[in-house]
Amino acid sequence: MKIYNTLTKSKEEFVPLQEGKVSMYVCGPTVYDYIHIGNARPMIVFDTFRRYLEYKGYDVNYVSNFTDVDDKIIQRAIEEGTTAQEISEFYIRECKKDMEGMNVKPATTHPMATQEIDGMIDMIQTLIDKGYAYDSDGTVYFRTRKFQDYGKLSKKNIDDLESGHRDIRVAGEESKEDPLDFVLWKPKKEGEPSWASPWSDGRPGWHIECSVMSKKYLGDEIDIHAGGEDLIFPHHENEIAQSEAANGCPFSKYWMHNAFLNIDGTKMSKSLGNFFTVRDISQKYDLQVLRFFMLSAHYRSPLNFNAELMEAAKNGLERILTAAEKIREIIQSGADGKMTAEEQDTLAGAKQYVQKFECAMEDDCNTANAISAVFELVKFTNSHLAASNTKQFAKQLYEMLFRLCDVLGILLERKMQAVGDEDYIEEMIQKRANAKKEKNFALADSIRDELAEKGILLKDTREGTKWTRS
Ligand code: AMP
Ligand code: ZN
Repeated sequence: MKIYNTLTKSKEEFVPLQEGKVSMYVCGPTVYDYIHIGNARPMIVFDTFRRYLEYKGYDVNYVSNFTDVDDKIIQRAIEEGTTAQEISEFYIRECKKDMEGMNVKPATTHPMATQEIDGMIDMIQTLIDKGYAYDSDGTVYFRTRKFQDYGKLSKKNIDDLESGHRDIRVAGEESKEDPLDFVLWKPKKEGEPSWASPWSDGRPGWHIECSVMSKKYLGDEIDIHAGGEDLIFPHHENEIAQSEAANGCPFSKYWMHNAFLNIDGTKMSKSLGNFFTVRDISQKYDLQVLRFFMLSAHYRSPLNFNAELMEAAKNGLERILTAAEKIREIIQSGADGKMTAEEQDTLAGAKQYVQKFECAMEDDCNTANAISAVFELVKFTNSHLAASNTKQFAKQLYEMLFRLCDVLGILLERKMQAVGDEDYIEEMIQKRANAKKEKNFALADSIRDELAEKGILLKDTREGTKWTRS
């Protein structure tokens, strides 16, 4: 299998450090708001890559963090008159719900920065002891120039960086030895969350968090480190400097970066107002559609989000789900007994699409081509499956389609449901009424609670159940 390694700027054969095992770290979101559809891109593409590694039989240790201490979180807490901890806990819970909707598997571990402060203090101390970091009035900086390989990931030349930085002296950073040095630990400001350290009561810098969480859960040297391309510099460049200086060995063998998601051809940003959260999208579409849309492009190509492309993704996904339903019908109603020779030939013919799918995934996780192979398998199914087929044949065909869709994270049996979709709400109300009739009050309550969580409030009246959006 080949993957594009940002470190070498080339497609390389993937050879894990330990046979049969893969250690992978994906930088997760800063939790101060609902995740947006840009954040969803790395979640979905690297989850799909992980699923393919598992499909190939690798034992994958997949770690993805939550950055739960940050200026934006503190700012939000001030605005809402609450604590940073409450803000981050709330948005972590909501993020996990969105991940479930998009069928992103939970990571093996989802570490949170605030739970790993001791490890950060240890690594910073090691860097100071080795001469790679220094304390200046309670702020600890990394001595960037001392790390010989600085710039090797982003291909930046340290002298160019220096000239760019010369005039930009940020207030409060006068105590730096060199403008290129970056923060490992900073003293708290009044009212901010803080932890005791040998240098000051304060909090860690963003970059050190990932170096430490990766080391703790995956070891000093890992197979793959991934994230969006905006993280190459400075975040990942700084992670390399910290980890390699502290641990004295290479940090990550492969670096994978997804390109950005744009909206209607322009960069998605809050200030431009062209900004969607995953929760927004779930009002109109089943999040499985969003997932399918994300995978319709190669992860290293910029992807444009617009209504037309989402509709196309929805239609494409429906074609697959309809074919799956048709196969399930034959599994129920087809002929008993052994497969015929002709059916065996047909199955052998269908295997070419599995090969095509695997070839696409082997080529730097080309999900766009992998989806084409699934469409070809669907087309093949539609033209070869008939009511006269055996159950056995239908089962095997289903298994084939199921395994490929499982890599893509597409659930073949999930009925498309958009939360804001009125048909869906009516369907759920009917389900709840039936549950009540059958005296299954636990189910009835869970349906009401589930809708409430999605902002749909039910009210039982004499004319039946009415609903409103909260
Ligand atoms: P952040 O919370 O900003 O640290 O982002 C979390 C992850 O989402 C990182 O891997 C980012 O690179 C990624 N990301 C943020 N915005 C976008 C976008 N518009 N397109 C693709 N990835 C993004
Ligand atoms: Zn990170």
